[in-house]
Amino acid sequence: MGPAQVVGATVIDGSGRDPSNVVITVENGRITQLGASSAHGERLDAEGLTMTPGLIDAHVHLGLSSPIQPHFSFRISAAEIAADIFATAGATLDAGFTTVRDTGGIDGGVVTAIAKGKVRGPRVLSCGPVQCQIGGHGYYGAAWEPTGLWSSHQSTATLMAAREVALVPTFAVVERLLHDTAGAGLAESIRDRAKGVREQMTRALAVAKHAGVRIGLGSDLIGPAQDRRGGELSLRAALETPMEALVAATRTNAGILGLSGQVGVITPGAQADLVLWNATRSKTRNFSPTPPTPSS
Ligand SMILES: [Zn+2]
Repeated sequence: MGPAQVVGATVIDGSGRDPSNVVITVENGRITQLGASSAHGERLDAEGLTMTPGLIDAHVHLGLSSPIQPHFSFRISAAEIAADIFATAGATLDAGFTTVRDTGGIDGGVVTAIAKGKVRGPRVLSCGPVQCQIGGHGYYGAAWEPTGLWSSHQSTATLMAAREVALVPTFAVVERLLHDTAGAGLAESIRDRAKGVREQMTRALAVAKHAGVRIGLGSDLIGPAQDRRGGELSLRAALETPMEALVAATRTNAGILGLSGQVGVITPGAQADLVLWNATRSKTRNFSPTPPTPSS
């Protein structure tokens, strides 16, 4: 693909710097130049739109895109499960997310089907089988751990900062459980637990930030209604600032995924995962058909 220039957008580059009106040149799926417009190549007019790097969701469950109860009781066919996964993958891209980390043991075929362009979706980094803490939502061994026991935020955060362990809070899933417990396919009794979780997560975010922990962003949405993925940024923006939420979803998440400088930033050499936004919708333009290999 020849060079193309995106002209006129207000560019927020993912670094936390103030927006600018720089011209972006892309070629062969990568950003090649910032600044000076040239006469060569296609010219894309983005006047009035805001450009960000493709967003990154560092905690997704594409594999849990079907109604949870029938799915877990094996009452849905493999074909239907695949159709639901692909629908979620396309909706994720349409929501402006061009990279996701799947923490739920997704079928590797989903990753390659998207990477080969057979279905629309974001670049998927798969973590393999689920691992979780006692009481986490992948834990089926015993009752959940009461949030009242989560009293050691400070010492945990200090240890995480010292060991360079990143935190990826996931407020969107908790918000969903609070407002539509049945819609998420779960018992109403979950709601009270979710209230405690939200309170403690808000505290944990503040403590972790103060301790200097690297803090990314994830949604952890499950089930068929994964259309509020961007809501995680709104929730974080309310607890921090909009720019901090955006940087968490771009540059910081890229670092956590071992993709620093490749995604999550608008800089020469990076993948041309670019999203244009207006007030009511997003338009994703991914010039890169080939996903990069994670460096770690
Ligand atoms: Zn999860």
